[in-house]
Amino acid sequence: QQAEWAKLKDEPTFSKDGEQVELVANIGTPEDVAGVINNGGEGVGLYRTEFLYMGKSELPTEDEQFEAYKSVLEQMGDKPVVVRTLDVGGDKELSYLNLPKEMNPFLGFRAIRFCLENEHVFRPQLRALLRASAYGNLKIMFPMIATLEEFRKAKAILLDEKENLTAEGVKVSDDIEVGIMVEIPSTAVIAKQFAKEVDFFSIGTNDLIQYTMAADRMNEQVSYLYQPYHPAILNLVNNVIEAAHSEGKWAGMCGEMAGDPIAIPLLLGLGLDEFSMSATSILPARTQIRDLSKHDLSSYKDTILSMGTAEEVVAFVNEKTSK
Ligand code: PEP
Ligand code: MG
Repeated sequence: QQAEWAKLKDEPTFSKDGEQVELVANIGTPEDVAGVINNGGEGVGLYRTEFLYMGKSELPTEDEQFEAYKSVLEQMGDKPVVVRTLDVGGDKELSYLNLPKEMNPFLGFRAIRFCLENEHVFRPQLRALLRASAYGNLKIMFPMIATLEEFRKAKAILLDEKENLTAEGVKVSDDIEVGIMVEIPSTAVIAKQFAKEVDFFSIGTNDLIQYTMAADRMNEQVSYLYQPYHPAILNLVNNVIEAAHSEGKWAGMCGEMAGDPIAIPLLLGLGLDEFSMSATSILPARTQIRDLSKHDLSSYKDTILSMGTAEEVVAFVNEKTSK
């Protein structure tokens, strides 16, 4: 099986019926890029920038960040690299920021909420990204977007820094796509409105599942409710993909679900364009997708989306994909 995977390393990803999708990787540091390339990744779908901020006693400087982003972009050549801006809070704490203890950290002051209120943290990261954009195919993604206003504010700050850099004579790429993570149900529900303004969506199922099912992703006792195949989740995912396509945009997924062999046929059938997963899942996923007919799977869409339980969904997919 390893040998079959290896043959597909430098191949694009096609379904049995000739439909192309993109298989990209989640990374946390520039050192992870070698693994992406060795495993046949077609890009980086999620660069979690928190690692730059963790395990230190102070904020990383703009230059430190610039070097890290530039390194990832250069190593990836012309392949796309989606960098997520700081997603601090929730499960990701930074002691030096002295954030107040909260009753519900996952529902609290985190990610874009924190960045919009702390421009001295947000702006240097955006400047570092913009400067690095001259070295590759950068896409910028904002985490935990709950409202259109948040997206508009974040984008305005980005454009403001772009103007500043241009005025300073610094070269900045002119075609940086700017998108959002869809990990909050409110955003998934009005994805259609968002699709008019964003360049792309990446569905963050790790959080989307916990917020939709109201089940803490770290709490064992409620883990039975953490159901990726629940029809509620699939309907939200479908809504996001349809919204993107209706505006000519693309929809990806960077939560764990994107690399899950049970979810892959479902997501292919719903029309997901980009699957971002851990690097080691890419070749198995490419092999799996070559055996799946996207057309057949999409014909089951209405049936699956009207099911009542995750169990029914799984039984149905297993039946349809078993050889
Ligand atoms: C997600 O929420 O699905 C996601 C990819 O982000 P993180 O796991 O970093 O919260
Ligand atoms: Mg998340």
